[in-house]
Amino acid sequence: MQKNKTILPPQMIGIIGGGQLGRMMTLSAKYMGYRVAVLDPTPGCPTAQVADKQIVAAYDDMDAIKELTEISDVVTYEFENVDLKAATYIEQRGKLPQGAYALEITQNREKEKQLMKDANLPVPKFSIVTNGKECEAALADFTYPAVIKTCSGGYDGKGQIKLTSSADQQQAIDFAEKNQHCIIEHWVTFDKEISVVFTRAASGAITFFPIAENDHKDHILYQTTVPAGINETIERKAYDATKILADKMNIVGTFAIEMFVQGDDIYLNEMAPRPHNSGHYTIEACNVSQFTQHVRAICGLPLTEIQLLQPATMINVLGEDLAGVLQAMSSTPNGFVHLYGKDEAKTKRKMGHVTFIAETEAKRTDQVDQFLQKTVL
Ligand code: AMP
Repeated sequence: MQKNKTILPPQMIGIIGGGQLGRMMTLSAKYMGYRVAVLDPTPGCPTAQVADKQIVAAYDDMDAIKELTEISDVVTYEFENVDLKAATYIEQRGKLPQGAYALEITQNREKEKQLMKDANLPVPKFSIVTNGKECEAALADFTYPAVIKTCSGGYDGKGQIKLTSSADQQQAIDFAEKNQHCIIEHWVTFDKEISVVFTRAASGAITFFPIAENDHKDHILYQTTVPAGINETIERKAYDATKILADKMNIVGTFAIEMFVQGDDIYLNEMAPRPHNSGHYTIEACNVSQFTQHVRAICGLPLTEIQLLQPATMINVLGEDLAGVLQAMSSTPNGFVHLYGKDEAKTKRKMGHVTFIAETEAKRTDQVDQFLQKTVL
Protein backbone atom coordinates (compact mmCIF):
# COMPACT_ATOMS: atom_id res chain seq x y z
CA MET A 1 0.00 0.00 0.00
CA GLN A 2 1.38 3.36 -1.10
CA LYS A 3 1.09 6.54 0.93
CA ASN A 4 2.07 10.04 -0.11
CA LYS A 5 3.67 12.31 2.43
CA THR A 6 1.31 14.42 4.50
CA ILE A 7 1.22 18.08 3.56
CA LEU A 8 -0.24 20.27 6.29
CA PRO A 9 -1.27 23.95 6.36
CA PRO A 10 0.35 26.41 5.89
CA GLN A 11 2.44 24.44 3.38
CA MET A 12 2.24 25.51 -0.27
CA ILE A 13 0.12 23.85 -2.97
CA GLY A 14 1.20 24.63 -6.54
CA ILE A 15 -1.42 24.55 -9.29
CA ILE A 16 -0.70 24.41 -13.02
CA GLY A 17 -3.51 26.31 -14.75
CA GLY A 18 -5.38 29.31 -13.44
CA GLY A 19 -8.99 28.88 -14.60
CA GLN A 20 -12.15 28.25 -12.61
CA LEU A 21 -11.18 24.75 -11.46
CA GLY A 22 -7.92 26.06 -10.02
CA ARG A 23 -9.84 28.91 -8.41
CA MET A 24 -12.30 26.59 -6.67
CA MET A 25 -9.46 24.26 -5.60
CA THR A 26 -7.68 27.28 -4.19
CA LEU A 27 -10.73 28.48 -2.27
CA SER A 28 -11.00 25.03 -0.64
CA ALA A 29 -7.28 25.00 0.15
CA LYS A 30 -7.41 28.51 1.61
CA TYR A 31 -10.28 27.57 3.94
CA MET A 32 -8.04 24.82 5.26
CA GLY A 33 -5.11 27.20 5.79
CA TYR A 34 -2.85 26.17 2.91
CA ARG A 35 -0.97 28.64 0.77
CA VAL A 36 -1.38 28.40 -3.00
CA ALA A 37 0.83 29.33 -5.95
CA VAL A 38 -0.52 29.19 -9.50
CA LEU A 39 1.28 29.00 -12.82
CA ASP A 40 -0.66 30.63 -15.65
CA PRO A 41 0.27 32.91 -18.56
CA THR A 42 -2.50 35.44 -17.88
CA PRO A 43 -1.78 37.89 -15.04
CA GLY A 44 -4.72 38.10 -12.62
CA CYS A 45 -6.35 34.93 -14.02
CA PRO A 46 -9.35 33.49 -12.04
CA THR A 47 -7.10 31.40 -9.75
CA ALA A 48 -4.53 34.15 -9.19
CA GLN A 49 -7.29 36.39 -7.82
CA VAL A 50 -7.66 34.08 -4.81
CA ALA A 51 -4.15 32.54 -4.55
CA ASP A 52 -1.10 33.76 -2.63
CA LYS A 53 1.22 33.89 -5.60
CA GLN A 54 1.21 33.67 -9.39
CA ILE A 55 4.04 32.68 -11.68
CA VAL A 56 3.17 34.31 -15.00
CA ALA A 57 4.47 31.95 -17.68
CA ALA A 58 3.41 29.43 -20.31
CA TYR A 59 2.39 26.02 -18.93
CA ASP A 60 5.32 24.32 -20.66
CA ASP A 61 7.95 26.89 -19.65
CA MET A 62 10.39 24.57 -17.86
CA ASP A 63 11.99 27.38 -15.85
CA ALA A 64 8.57 28.30 -14.51
CA ILE A 65 7.75 24.65 -13.82
CA LYS A 66 11.02 24.34 -11.88
CA GLU A 67 10.23 27.47 -9.88
CA LEU A 68 6.71 26.20 -9.09
CA THR A 69 8.13 22.83 -7.99
CA GLU A 70 10.72 24.54 -5.83
CA ILE A 71 8.32 26.80 -3.95
CA SER A 72 5.54 24.19 -3.59
CA ASP A 73 5.30 21.26 -1.20
CA VAL A 74 2.90 19.49 -3.55
CA VAL A 75 1.81 20.28 -7.12
CA THR A 76 -1.50 19.60 -8.88
CA TYR A 77 -3.12 20.72 -12.12
CA GLU A 78 -6.55 21.89 -13.18
CA PHE A 79 -6.55 20.74 -16.81
CA GLU A 80 -5.43 17.63 -18.67
CA ASN A 81 -3.23 19.17 -21.32
CA VAL A 82 -0.29 19.64 -18.98
CA ASP A 83 3.02 19.18 -20.75
CA LEU A 84 4.11 15.58 -20.03
CA LYS A 85 7.75 16.56 -19.71
CA ALA A 86 6.79 19.08 -17.04
CA ALA A 87 4.59 16.54 -15.21
CA THR A 88 7.35 13.93 -15.26
CA TYR A 89 9.86 16.46 -13.91
CA ILE A 90 7.61 17.24 -10.94
CA GLU A 91 6.73 13.59 -10.36
CA GLN A 92 10.41 12.63 -10.26
CA ARG A 93 10.91 15.17 -7.47
CA GLY A 94 8.15 13.45 -5.47
CA LYS A 95 5.80 16.43 -5.66
CA LEU A 96 3.10 15.25 -8.11
CA PRO A 97 1.07 12.58 -6.30
CA GLN A 98 -1.35 12.39 -9.25
CA GLY A 99 1.54 11.25 -11.45
CA ALA A 100 2.03 11.77 -15.18
CA TYR A 101 0.33 8.54 -16.31
CA ALA A 102 -3.29 9.70 -15.88
CA LEU A 103 -2.40 12.76 -17.98
CA GLU A 104 -0.79 10.67 -20.68
CA ILE A 105 -3.96 8.58 -20.99
CA THR A 106 -6.52 11.37 -20.83
CA GLN A 107 -4.62 13.57 -23.30
CA ASN A 108 -5.12 10.99 -25.98
CA ARG A 109 -8.51 9.57 -26.95
CA GLU A 110 -6.90 6.51 -28.53
CA LYS A 111 -5.05 5.54 -25.35
CA GLU A 112 -8.13 6.35 -23.27
CA LYS A 113 -10.52 4.18 -25.30
CA GLN A 114 -7.96 1.38 -25.66
CA LEU A 115 -7.42 1.28 -21.89
CA MET A 116 -11.18 0.99 -21.35
CA LYS A 117 -11.49 -1.71 -23.99
CA ASP A 118 -8.53 -3.67 -22.60
CA ALA A 119 -10.26 -3.59 -19.20
CA ASN A 120 -13.31 -5.18 -20.90
CA LEU A 121 -15.42 -2.13 -20.19
CA PRO A 122 -18.19 -1.09 -22.60
CA VAL A 123 -17.24 1.67 -25.06
CA PRO A 124 -18.89 2.75 -28.32
CA LYS A 125 -17.41 0.91 -31.32
CA PHE A 126 -14.38 2.92 -32.47
CA SER A 127 -11.64 3.01 -35.06
CA ILE A 128 -8.39 5.00 -35.15
CA VAL A 129 -7.36 6.67 -38.41
CA THR A 130 -4.40 8.84 -39.31
CA ASN A 131 -5.37 10.22 -42.74
CA GLY A 132 -8.26 10.62 -45.20
CA LYS A 133 -7.68 7.30 -46.92
CA GLU A 134 -7.79 5.33 -43.67
CA CYS A 135 -10.90 7.29 -42.70
CA GLU A 136 -12.68 6.30 -45.91
CA ALA A 137 -11.77 2.65 -45.38
CA ALA A 138 -12.83 2.70 -41.72
CA LEU A 139 -16.19 4.36 -42.45
CA ALA A 140 -17.13 1.42 -44.69
CA ASP A 141 -17.38 -0.53 -41.44
CA PHE A 142 -19.62 1.98 -39.62
CA THR A 143 -23.34 2.69 -39.72
CA TYR A 144 -24.55 6.28 -39.27
CA PRO A 145 -24.78 8.33 -37.13
CA ALA A 146 -21.12 8.31 -36.17
CA VAL A 147 -18.70 10.94 -34.93
CA ILE A 148 -15.11 11.76 -35.80
CA LYS A 149 -12.93 13.42 -33.14
CA THR A 150 -9.32 14.54 -32.98
CA CYS A 151 -7.40 12.25 -30.62
CA SER A 152 -5.92 15.19 -28.74
CA GLY A 153 -6.76 18.76 -27.89
CA GLY A 154 -10.58 18.75 -28.25
CA TYR A 155 -12.97 19.92 -25.54
CA ASP A 156 -16.59 21.12 -25.20
CA GLY A 157 -17.39 19.64 -28.62
CA LYS A 158 -14.46 21.38 -30.30
CA GLY A 159 -12.44 19.10 -32.58
CA GLN A 160 -15.27 16.79 -33.57
CA ILE A 161 -17.96 16.44 -36.25
CA LYS A 162 -21.12 14.37 -36.04
CA LEU A 163 -21.66 12.31 -39.17
CA THR A 164 -25.39 11.88 -39.73
CA SER A 165 -25.39 10.04 -43.04
CA SER A 166 -23.05 8.93 -45.82
CA ALA A 167 -23.47 12.47 -47.23
CA ASP A 168 -21.07 13.57 -44.45
CA GLN A 169 -18.38 11.09 -45.49
CA GLN A 170 -16.28 13.58 -47.48
CA GLN A 171 -16.34 16.02 -44.57
CA ALA A 172 -14.97 13.25 -42.33
CA ILE A 173 -12.25 12.36 -44.83
CA ASP A 174 -11.17 16.01 -45.07
CA PHE A 175 -11.22 16.26 -41.26
CA ALA A 176 -8.97 13.20 -40.91
CA GLU A 177 -6.63 14.44 -43.63
CA LYS A 178 -6.30 17.78 -41.84
CA ASN A 179 -6.08 16.52 -38.23
CA GLN A 180 -4.24 13.22 -38.86
CA HIS A 181 -4.69 11.30 -35.60
CA CYS A 182 -8.47 10.86 -35.19
CA ILE A 183 -10.99 8.48 -33.70
CA ILE A 184 -14.25 7.50 -35.38
CA GLU A 185 -16.96 6.37 -32.96
CA HIS A 186 -20.39 4.90 -33.36
CA TRP A 187 -22.93 7.51 -32.16
CA VAL A 188 -24.78 6.12 -29.15
CA THR A 189 -28.45 7.08 -29.08
CA PHE A 190 -28.38 7.49 -25.34
CA ASP A 191 -31.24 8.04 -22.89
CA LYS A 192 -29.03 10.08 -20.60
CA GLU A 193 -25.50 11.24 -20.04
CA ILE A 194 -24.08 10.73 -16.55
CA SER A 195 -20.76 11.26 -14.86
CA VAL A 196 -19.08 9.64 -11.92
CA VAL A 197 -16.90 12.06 -10.00
CA PHE A 198 -14.74 10.38 -7.39
CA THR A 199 -11.63 10.93 -5.32
CA ARG A 200 -8.95 8.32 -4.72
CA ALA A 201 -6.15 8.45 -2.18
CA ALA A 202 -2.62 7.15 -2.76
CA SER A 203 -3.49 4.29 -0.37
CA GLY A 204 -6.16 3.11 -2.86
CA ALA A 205 -9.08 4.30 -0.70
CA ILE A 206 -11.80 5.65 -2.96
CA THR A 207 -14.86 7.82 -2.32
CA PHE A 208 -17.61 8.34 -4.90
CA PHE A 209 -19.76 11.43 -5.20
CA PRO A 210 -23.40 10.77 -6.10
CA ILE A 211 -23.77 10.13 -9.84
CA ALA A 212 -24.65 13.26 -11.79
CA GLU A 213 -27.05 13.45 -14.74
CA ASN A 214 -25.82 15.90 -17.36
CA ASP A 215 -27.62 17.83 -20.09
CA HIS A 216 -25.56 19.51 -22.78
CA LYS A 217 -26.43 22.33 -25.16
CA ASP A 218 -24.22 22.68 -28.24
CA HIS A 219 -21.79 20.15 -26.68
CA ILE A 220 -21.26 22.35 -23.60
CA LEU A 221 -22.54 21.19 -20.23
CA TYR A 222 -25.75 23.09 -19.53
CA GLN A 223 -27.16 21.46 -16.42
CA THR A 224 -26.28 18.79 -13.85
CA THR A 225 -28.98 17.13 -11.76
CA VAL A 226 -28.44 15.04 -8.64
CA PRO A 227 -29.63 12.47 -7.81
CA ALA A 228 -29.50 11.23 -11.40
CA GLY A 229 -32.66 9.52 -12.67
CA ILE A 230 -31.03 6.10 -13.02
CA ASN A 231 -31.81 2.67 -11.64
CA GLU A 232 -29.63 0.58 -9.33
CA THR A 233 -28.34 -1.59 -12.18
CA ILE A 234 -26.91 1.44 -13.97
CA GLU A 235 -25.57 2.86 -10.73
CA ARG A 236 -23.77 -0.37 -9.92
CA LYS A 237 -22.35 -0.72 -13.45
CA ALA A 238 -21.13 2.90 -13.40
CA TYR A 239 -19.43 2.61 -10.00
CA ASP A 240 -17.91 -0.81 -10.85
CA ALA A 241 -16.44 0.46 -14.14
CA THR A 242 -15.11 3.55 -12.39
CA LYS A 243 -13.41 1.51 -9.66
CA ILE A 244 -11.73 -0.71 -12.24
CA LEU A 245 -10.33 2.28 -14.15
CA ALA A 246 -9.34 4.20 -11.02
CA ASP A 247 -7.32 1.25 -9.75
CA LYS A 248 -5.83 0.47 -13.15
CA MET A 249 -4.58 4.04 -13.56
CA ASN A 250 -3.64 4.35 -9.88
CA ILE A 251 -5.50 7.65 -9.70
CA VAL A 252 -4.79 10.08 -6.88
CA GLY A 253 -7.10 13.06 -6.46
CA THR A 254 -10.51 13.93 -7.87
CA PHE A 255 -11.27 12.47 -11.28
CA ALA A 256 -14.38 12.18 -13.48
CA ILE A 257 -15.68 9.64 -15.98
CA GLU A 258 -18.46 10.58 -18.41
CA MET A 259 -20.79 7.85 -19.65
CA PHE A 260 -23.84 7.31 -21.85
CA VAL A 261 -26.84 5.39 -20.53
CA GLN A 262 -28.94 3.35 -22.96
CA GLY A 263 -31.60 1.16 -21.33
CA ASP A 264 -29.77 -0.88 -18.70
CA ASP A 265 -26.41 -0.44 -20.42
CA ILE A 266 -23.64 2.08 -20.01
CA TYR A 267 -20.98 3.13 -22.55
CA LEU A 268 -17.92 4.96 -21.31
CA ASN A 269 -17.18 8.21 -23.12
CA GLU A 270 -14.28 10.18 -21.69
CA MET A 271 -12.32 10.88 -18.54
CA ALA A 272 -11.01 14.01 -16.86
CA PRO A 273 -8.03 13.68 -14.48
CA ARG A 274 -9.19 16.57 -12.27
CA PRO A 275 -12.31 18.02 -10.64
CA HIS A 276 -15.11 18.33 -13.21
CA ASN A 277 -17.82 20.78 -14.15
CA SER A 278 -20.45 18.14 -13.33
CA GLY A 279 -19.09 18.01 -9.76
CA HIS A 280 -19.56 21.68 -8.94
CA TYR A 281 -22.86 20.88 -7.24
CA THR A 282 -20.89 19.15 -4.46
CA ILE A 283 -19.84 22.55 -3.04
CA GLU A 284 -23.30 23.16 -1.58
CA ALA A 285 -25.03 19.78 -1.85
CA CYS A 286 -22.48 17.48 -0.18
CA ASN A 287 -20.74 17.48 3.18
CA VAL A 288 -17.41 17.68 1.32
CA SER A 289 -16.85 19.20 -2.13
CA GLN A 290 -14.94 17.64 -5.01
CA PHE A 291 -12.32 20.39 -4.51
CA THR A 292 -11.81 19.88 -0.77
CA GLN A 293 -11.63 16.12 -1.27
CA HIS A 294 -9.05 16.68 -4.03
CA VAL A 295 -6.92 18.81 -1.72
CA ARG A 296 -7.21 16.12 0.97
CA ALA A 297 -6.08 13.40 -1.47
CA ILE A 298 -3.05 15.24 -2.85
CA CYS A 299 -2.03 16.35 0.64
CA GLY A 300 -2.20 12.79 1.97
CA LEU A 301 -5.09 13.45 4.37
CA PRO A 302 -7.70 10.70 4.93
CA LEU A 303 -10.70 11.11 2.62
CA THR A 304 -13.98 12.28 4.13
CA GLU A 305 -16.94 9.90 3.76
CA ILE A 306 -19.28 11.57 1.28
CA GLN A 307 -22.92 12.36 1.98
CA LEU A 308 -25.43 14.08 -0.28
CA LEU A 309 -27.14 16.62 1.96
CA GLN A 310 -29.84 17.79 -0.45
CA PRO A 311 -30.93 17.24 -4.08
CA ALA A 312 -29.17 19.68 -6.38
CA THR A 313 -29.26 21.27 -9.82
CA MET A 314 -26.25 23.12 -11.20
CA ILE A 315 -26.62 25.36 -14.24
CA ASN A 316 -23.64 26.83 -16.08
CA VAL A 317 -23.50 30.55 -16.77
CA LEU A 318 -22.04 31.29 -20.20
CA GLY A 319 -20.98 34.73 -21.42
CA GLU A 320 -24.32 35.37 -23.10
CA ASP A 321 -26.20 34.43 -19.88
CA LEU A 322 -24.33 36.69 -17.49
CA ALA A 323 -26.51 39.80 -17.60
CA GLY A 324 -29.68 37.72 -17.10
CA VAL A 325 -28.17 35.85 -14.16
CA LEU A 326 -27.19 39.08 -12.42
CA GLN A 327 -30.72 40.32 -12.92
CA ALA A 328 -32.24 37.10 -11.50
CA MET A 329 -29.75 37.18 -8.61
CA SER A 330 -30.98 40.57 -7.52
CA SER A 331 -34.62 39.51 -7.43
CA THR A 332 -34.67 35.84 -6.26
CA PRO A 333 -33.49 34.52 -2.89
CA ASN A 334 -32.38 31.08 -4.07
CA GLY A 335 -29.54 29.80 -6.21
CA PHE A 336 -25.90 29.93 -5.11
CA VAL A 337 -24.19 32.04 -7.74
CA HIS A 338 -20.50 31.40 -8.43
CA LEU A 339 -18.68 33.74 -10.81
CA TYR A 340 -15.14 32.98 -11.83
CA GLY A 341 -13.71 36.48 -12.18
CA LYS A 342 -13.14 36.27 -15.94
CA ASP A 343 -12.77 39.70 -17.47
CA GLU A 344 -14.64 39.32 -20.76
CA ALA A 345 -18.10 37.72 -21.05
CA LYS A 346 -17.56 36.11 -24.45
CA THR A 347 -20.30 33.99 -26.00
CA LYS A 348 -20.06 30.32 -24.89
CA ARG A 349 -17.32 31.13 -22.37
CA LYS A 350 -17.97 29.59 -18.95
CA MET A 351 -18.29 32.60 -16.64
CA GLY A 352 -19.76 30.87 -13.62
CA HIS A 353 -22.49 28.53 -12.41
CA VAL A 354 -25.53 28.58 -10.15
CA THR A 355 -26.43 25.72 -7.79
CA PHE A 356 -29.89 25.13 -6.36
CA ILE A 357 -30.44 22.87 -3.37
CA ALA A 358 -33.58 22.16 -1.36
CA GLU A 359 -34.89 19.47 0.98
CA THR A 360 -36.93 17.81 -1.78
CA GLU A 361 -36.43 17.44 -5.52
CA ALA A 362 -39.77 19.20 -6.11
CA LYS A 363 -38.74 22.22 -4.05
CA ARG A 364 -35.37 22.31 -5.79
CA THR A 365 -37.08 22.27 -9.20
CA ASP A 366 -39.41 25.08 -8.08
CA GLN A 367 -36.35 27.16 -7.17
CA VAL A 368 -34.82 26.53 -10.59
CA ASP A 369 -38.09 27.47 -12.36
CA GLN A 370 -38.43 30.63 -10.29
CA PHE A 371 -34.87 31.66 -11.13
CA LEU A 372 -35.28 30.88 -14.82
CA GLN A 373 -38.47 32.97 -14.97
CA LYS A 374 -36.30 35.95 -14.20
CA THR A 375 -33.77 35.16 -16.92
CA VAL A 376 -33.21 32.95 -19.94
CA LEU A 377 -30.37 30.40 -19.73
P1 AMP B 1 -16.75 14.50 -25.87
O1 AMP B 1 -15.87 15.65 -26.21
O2 AMP B 1 -16.23 13.20 -26.34
O3 AMP B 1 -17.16 14.46 -24.42
O4 AMP B 1 -18.13 14.80 -26.64
C1 AMP B 1 -18.94 15.91 -26.33
C2 AMP B 1 -20.40 15.50 -26.34
O5 AMP B 1 -20.74 14.99 -27.66
C3 AMP B 1 -20.75 14.38 -25.39
O6 AMP B 1 -21.02 14.86 -24.10
C4 AMP B 1 -21.99 13.80 -26.07
O7 AMP B 1 -23.13 14.59 -25.82
C5 AMP B 1 -21.65 13.89 -27.53
N1 AMP B 1 -20.97 12.66 -27.98
C6 AMP B 1 -19.66 12.47 -28.14
N2 AMP B 1 -19.37 11.22 -28.55
C7 AMP B 1 -20.54 10.58 -28.68
C8 AMP B 1 -20.93 9.26 -29.07
N3 AMP B 1 -20.04 8.34 -29.45
N4 AMP B 1 -22.26 8.97 -29.06
C9 AMP B 1 -23.17 9.89 -28.68
N5 AMP B 1 -22.87 11.15 -28.31
C10 AMP B 1 -21.58 11.50 -28.31
